[in-house]
Amino acid sequence: MTVQNLPGQPHLAYRGNELFLEDVRLSDLVKTHGTPLFVYSKESMLAALAAYQRGFAGRQVQICYAMKANPALGVIQVFAAAGCGFDIVSGGDMDRVLAAGGQAHKIIFSGVGKTRAEMRRALEAGIGCFNVESEAELEVLSEVALSMAMRAPVSLRVNPNVDPKTHPYISTGLKGSKFGVAHDRVLQTYQRAATLAGINVVGIDCHIGSQITDIAPYLDAADRMLDLVEAIEAAGIPLQHIDFGGGLGINYNDDTPPAADELWQKLLIKLDARGFGQRQLMIEPGRSLVGNAGVCLSQVLYLKPGEQKNFCILDAAMNDLPRPAMYQAFHQIVPLTPRDATPQTWDVVGPICESGDWLGHDRALAVQAGDLLAVLSAGAYCMSMASNYNSRGRAPEVLVDGTQARLIRQRETMADQMRQELSLLTP
Ligand SMILES: *Cc1c(COP(=O)(O)O)cnc(C)c1O
Repeated sequence: MTVQNLPGQPHLAYRGNELFLEDVRLSDLVKTHGTPLFVYSKESMLAALAAYQRGFAGRQVQICYAMKANPALGVIQVFAAAGCGFDIVSGGDMDRVLAAGGQAHKIIFSGVGKTRAEMRRALEAGIGCFNVESEAELEVLSEVALSMAMRAPVSLRVNPNVDPKTHPYISTGLKGSKFGVAHDRVLQTYQRAATLAGINVVGIDCHIGSQITDIAPYLDAADRMLDLVEAIEAAGIPLQHIDFGGGLGINYNDDTPPAADELWQKLLIKLDARGFGQRQLMIEPGRSLVGNAGVCLSQVLYLKPGEQKNFCILDAAMNDLPRPAMYQAFHQIVPLTPRDATPQTWDVVGPICESGDWLGHDRALAVQAGDLLAVLSAGAYCMSMASNYNSRGRAPEVLVDGTQARLIRQRETMADQMRQELSLLTP
């Protein structure tokens, strides 16, 4: 039997004429669980994590998985068992980490709009660090901590004002971004933090954007961060850790991001040269740990050839996989069982009543109604952004480990969807 790997997707391969993720035939999972269906490779996640671990060999580092990329309990459990901490952006995220057996002291809490209730609960749980994003938030956090007779461990998220050269919706480190403390206010804000009785300054943090495929913005951001660390420490405020955020891109379609180990070896050369190589470091990768570990499986409902466009209508849609609609993102789409026929050009769309409901434009596919397709690179920011638009239940999720496949989330039913609603027909 011939085995044909997919470029940039080491855990996916055609064996004979059937697509496998690790050692599991994907069409078998469809027989059991139906479509749409998300399937993730545990080995792919651990291989992505191992690249970071190699890059940091011999250094003090805490890798905090940015769980908004994929917050499934089963996914968090894989990373918790591998020793990861977690970058959370809500109290709900924290509940997930604790429910999955993650350790509170390895949690860092990011986000521009933390509520007092979220702060209180995170302090009670004993999280490792609040990544504070504004002066106003700093004052509130100090008040909340003092009311509990505590001091909140804080790192300020600074906005280094570098352009990550990615999509504007996922670039976060430029002037004019809602994120982080403006570069020229950083020192003042640290000085203020040092006077607040409810605040314990422990670090500095940045996160410049997402799907970054170029090393230069990271090097620029690192230089600007280290300049700030020097200035803050010269002002008498020591910092225990430096957090460089996440943002490393993945290969969706001929993207060529640096490998995590290569990126970090280069950054560590810079840190060493500037005398910071032995500091406690932190990073917050999300997409690069899970993005290429996942596929979304879907069935072709109808073919609708037209004068200007041919439409291939799937049972997966923008509610399952919002990235194309939100960011004009590209995901490869491949058949589970390729046909020996001449491909035609299709716009691959979902059933939702929006013209923005597409998964791929102008794709060369040899398909028939009833065929199964896999949307690739669907492990990050797909299921985590899924919605119930058009009363569509969210898809189930399966975690593959070698020959084993475990259901980690059931398909959402209509009863699940209507549970929070109150009928006018019952008194
Ligand atoms: C989203 C986010 C991350 C992770 O970004 P990726 O591009 O998925 O690696 C890390 N840190 C913060 C603060 C974030 O908001």
